[in-house]
Amino acid sequence: MTRIEKLCVDKGLRMTEQRRVIAQVLSSAQDHPDAEELYRRASAIDPHISIATVYRTVKLFEDAGILERHDFRDGRSRYEEAPDAHHDHLIDVQTGRVIEFRNEEIEKLQRRVAEELGFELVDHRLELYGVPKGGKKPGQ
Ligand SMILES: [Zn+2]
Repeated sequence: MTRIEKLCVDKGLRMTEQRRVIAQVLSSAQDHPDAEELYRRASAIDPHISIATVYRTVKLFEDAGILERHDFRDGRSRYEEAPDAHHDHLIDVQTGRVIEFRNEEIEKLQRRVAEELGFELVDHRLELYGVPKGGKKPGQ
């Protein structure tokens, strides 16, 4: 059983065969696929899965806190298994590649900013957008 399947069971979600396939695809994804890409991968395993089922299932998983949805400004929602340990993302704006990172200085700084504003930080999201150094920028 994948971690996502186990979380589904823990949260009392009924696991249909199609949901199980989508959970497996999500668990094995190393990138941050959107619904269309999940559909491509899931339908390669089970050709009866529809794009509507994929959309419904990711919504269900997201509402249950099993998945995290990201908007990396390309107009598509991307999904990843809710991570055990927090990380942030750097997006290569030329290729759309997503790089995960964690920086303790940034983590500390964010907590401090929240504190100075009279808050205890409970969550944050950070996205960096960049182009590879030395690479051509769009339109050149
Ligand atoms: Zn990530």
